Amino acid sequence: MSDPIIKAENLTRTYCVGRNKVTALSGVNLEINQGDFAVIFGPSGSGKTTLLSLLAGLDTPTEGQVFVDGTNINKLSPNKLAQFRSDNIGMVFQQFNLISALNSRDNVAIPLLLRGLRSKYSRNQANKVLSTLGLSDRTSHKPSELSGGQQQRVAIARALVTKPNILLVDEPTGNLDIPTGNDILEILKEINTKFGTTIILVTHNPEFVKYGNRIINVADGKIIQDRTVDTKRELAENISSLPASNGHLSIFEAFRLAMVHFFNKGFRAFLTTLGVAMGVGSVVALVSLGIGLQTITSSQLASFSDLVSITVTANKDATTNLDDTTVSRIKSLSHVAMVSPNLTLPAQVSIGNSSSQGIVEAIKPEALDFEGVTLSAGTAFKNDSGVIITKAVAKSFNITNLESLIGEDITLSLVSSDGTDLSQAKIVTVPEKISGVSDDDMSSNIYLSLTHLKNYISPDNYNAVKVKIDNRTNVEAVKNTIDTMGFNTTSVVDLINRVDKVFLITQLTLGIIGGVALLIALIGIVNIMTIALLERTHEVGVLKAIGATALDIRRIFEYEVILYGFFGAILGVAAAWSFGWGINSLIAYFMQRENIAGNIALFVTPVSFIILMIVLTMFISLMGGWFPAKKAAKLSAMEALRYE
Ligand code: ADP
Ligand code: MG
Repeated sequence: MSDPIIKAENLTRTYCVGRNKVTALSGVNLEINQGDFAVIFGPSGSGKTTLLSLLAGLDTPTEGQVFVDGTNINKLSPNKLAQFRSDNIGMVFQQFNLISALNSRDNVAIPLLLRGLRSKYSRNQANKVLSTLGLSDRTSHKPSELSGGQQQRVAIARALVTKPNILLVDEPTGNLDIPTGNDILEILKEINTKFGTTIILVTHNPEFVKYGNRIINVADGKIIQDRTVDTKRELAENISSLPASNGHLSIFEAFRLAMVHFFNKGFRAFLTTLGVAMGVGSVVALVSLGIGLQTITSSQLASFSDLVSITVTANKDATTNLDDTTVSRIKSLSHVAMVSPNLTLPAQVSIGNSSSQGIVEAIKPEALDFEGVTLSAGTAFKNDSGVIITKAVAKSFNITNLESLIGEDITLSLVSSDGTDLSQAKIVTVPEKISGVSDDDMSSNIYLSLTHLKNYISPDNYNAVKVKIDNRTNVEAVKNTIDTMGFNTTSVVDLINRVDKVFLITQLTLGIIGGVALLIALIGIVNIMTIALLERTHEVGVLKAIGATALDIRRIFEYEVILYGFFGAILGVAAAWSFGWGINSLIAYFMQRENIAGNIALFVTPVSFIILMIVLTMFISLMGGWFPAKKAAKLSAMEALRYE
């Protein structure tokens, strides 16, 4: 006679209930031979389920050992044991333990998928086994759409799909009526004789004892009788088994399972996603606003040259003159990089037969950049010829083709006066050619060379002198020096300092609010995942019993949280972006209505930031689900199975 397929030595299992010890099983020795149909019979509470779980390796004995096919399964690591079980043992339970979210085919395919077998192959195998059990027309039904007998047959199919050598069956008829129970037993009997599968059946119902060739009576955690009733049974060759498993649930299938659970949760999944979305959305909206505000200030409030410039004007009581002597005095100060005297005069501008009003700004050609004049067309004026008009001037002449203006004649009529004695005022006409058009579409300015204008008028004073400082940090010192010389000075340095400070505070505040929002979303994720774990404790037990390793369980849970993160992030980003876009459009609309040129984007959301947020949210979600997933993976199969 060959070695026993299952051998239990001195099996004892005690449970601690509070301070009491319950001995569910004590000193059980048992040998089951290949091809046996063993019926373990005994009253409720006699330790049958405990024994079966120990034989299956779902539970660890307090004392003693279990050998399956010569392997001491108590010495295997949890992962090795999960694989060993998946290779050798199929299990059927009283409560069927099907996964309610999956249809029959997927329920049966799971043990194969858990081995890392291909999706199509696994589902084909599942269909085959289901049809041998007479369920070919029920493959797409979910457990809730099947009768008890049918559910139990699906459960048997799931146990058989891995072609196990051993089938452990715990009260398969407990939830069924007698005729249906007999059907199930007939099926098991057929499996036993047809494939030579070793079957251990646990029952408290004497009705079903007759199916076994081996009858083991238990009471109070002990075997009280063990008899073999049929020794000369004809058994088929041992069934061909699947290749030994070394794979894992594929990422795709884990993801699919996570998806099924995600969508099965329906409204609650939606609420959690919404929670994440609100967190992500507020972060995106706030940061976009921060970026937008900063962009606006840095581009609109202060161009780079404004940061290092001081505008010098004459004192009100005119005790000092803003003339060439002053200009050279300022020029000689340290840290002064450039001095640009300005002469500003109102003018009537004529191009062709039409005319318009404008402001002549006479400056040095080399100061154009510093004065913030950027050309849209043509070239700068020279020391002795040419003018630059702004886009706004071109617009006032209804000219849109800027290039067509280059080289055109322009006449400037200026009023030359010292401002005190109007009777001395005289009109001076300056004929010129347009050399360029600047991109400024706000102010109607005409720029020309200061030395050139001096051929026509000789002013006593400049209107303003703009001073360029070598470095932003020196602006304040130079400003103070010029102040002591008796001039009015203005610079944006104070404003910039203040704006910088406000921005720092704003961004910190926005960041904190955003962070809190994200944290709340994270707590939401941890919360729902913990609840999901409690709800699915039993299912984790089932999955483990049919071959899932800790890693498989973790993957399923982790992918589910990543899904929350992903959908939440997409939803949040979309909402925040739409919101920003709406506000931007509204601003643009009002600016257009009020005829204000330019465009202001209050909300700026860079694509890189969107991608960062999505990835970050998925990562944060994973962190949020990490603990519950770890806890789920650690659950003991047996504890989980008993959890209702
Ligand atoms: P059966 O399957 O024959 O009805 P069990 O193996 O389920 O019996 O239980 C045997 C005994 O062990 C019972 O008294 C039961 O209350 C006890 N028992 C089983 N599991 C636990 C547990 N997890 N904690 C405490 N006591 C348990
Ligand atoms: Mg039981």
